[in-house]
Amino acid sequence: MDRNTPPVLSFLGAAGTVTGSRFLVDTPDQRVLVDCGLYQGRKELRERNWAGLGVGPASVDAVVLTHAHVDHCGYLPALVRDGFRGPIYCTPNTEDLVRIMLPDSARLAEQEAFYANRHGFSKHQPALPLFTEEDADAAMRALVPIPYHELHQGAGWSFSFGRAGHILGSAWAHLRLEDADDPRSMVFTGDLGRQNHPLLLPPEPRPTVDVVVSESTYGSRDHEVGDPAEQLGEIIRRTVARGGTVIIPAFAVDRTDVVLHHLARLSMAGAIPEVPIKLDSPMASRALWVYRDAFVNGSPDVRPELVGTHPFEVPGLDVVESVEESKQLNDETRPMVIISASGMLTGGRVVHHVAHRINDPRNTIVLIGYQAEGTRGRHLAEGATTLKMLGHYWPVRAEVTHLPSMSVHADRHDLIAWLASGKGAPDIVYAVHGEPESSAGLVAAIDEHLGWPAVAPRLDERVRLD
Ligand SMILES: [Zn+2]
Repeated sequence: MDRNTPPVLSFLGAAGTVTGSRFLVDTPDQRVLVDCGLYQGRKELRERNWAGLGVGPASVDAVVLTHAHVDHCGYLPALVRDGFRGPIYCTPNTEDLVRIMLPDSARLAEQEAFYANRHGFSKHQPALPLFTEEDADAAMRALVPIPYHELHQGAGWSFSFGRAGHILGSAWAHLRLEDADDPRSMVFTGDLGRQNHPLLLPPEPRPTVDVVVSESTYGSRDHEVGDPAEQLGEIIRRTVARGGTVIIPAFAVDRTDVVLHHLARLSMAGAIPEVPIKLDSPMASRALWVYRDAFVNGSPDVRPELVGTHPFEVPGLDVVESVEESKQLNDETRPMVIISASGMLTGGRVVHHVAHRINDPRNTIVLIGYQAEGTRGRHLAEGATTLKMLGHYWPVRAEVTHLPSMSVHADRHDLIAWLASGKGAPDIVYAVHGEPESSAGLVAAIDEHLGWPAVAPRLDERVRLD
């Protein structure tokens, strides 16, 4: 890039949708990609994963990664396979979690290709996976941990991470472009957490910047008030009383840990009956170890009052490892709680548990947190009476409860409060990582409460930063 050209910000993903976070900053010296996520949800979104990055991966000098969710890091194996050779910067806890997430996404991609070949429903002969475990290994070799608040210098730019309070290790990224005449600065929120995350400290205040690129998952909504632990306790009590089982489709990282923490507290208070609690997700159980370590070692983003305690020790907790053991749960007739991924019922072992138990009105399916458009979780949350799983339509006879209050995303009120928490008004806020009405909702709320310019950029839109 010419030294006289102004820096440019390009929205290569998560514009008009909640997944596929990819933002490119072209400085006169280097090209930096902030987040490198997979598209998830509807088929036409998932198909975008095959369309490439939009710029040559070999031309990107560095990746700055905000957190370990797949919609922020899941495209890294393809990026590295296609020629990216730079460092991938992230916090130390994000590194540990990415090392769990990426091999798992690669295995899923390989299974999908295998399944497509066996059933002959791919346009490609043979169907190839989006990326392989080897690609995931190569991406993991590029990870470079940078602790919170440590300034890291690139060529003509620098960045530091601040706590985002969304999942363990999550960060907002503060980038500074060092042009002597016109230094520019920006912050990418990644995903922002809430003030009351039971395990993590809340997000740190917004740094003073010229440009904010803000998530807007819940940009048009405020979460209902209510204690999710109490709601969960009530659900478990009534389900067990009628002899049913509670199935909690949980996101493997963080939501599982939050649910276990609530169960530990409920159980200690004698607020739930003693029933077996099955954690049936190999990825969630590996992530649980990272969370446990963070509380043993006093990680900088966990609530200090919980350091040195055992916030996940639930009596009756049993970690299900093998597929065989998972299948054996089908024969269990005693009431129990099954926590299993994925959180929006898009795949994983939980689909089998739901298919097996959805027909029985004694059981309850508890959806927690955000349910993206086009997912089975969203259909159920919207009152579907049948659900397609494993090639069949199943009547929905079990109770279905949605606890959006257990979300780990900031709502409209939290987003506005976070934007207002920094000094000075930015020149502009870009609302990304939201469905169109959510991003539009955040833009409207910024205008109403802060009076700042804000827009929801289009996919592939490029804006000059001068
Ligand atoms: Zn996230």
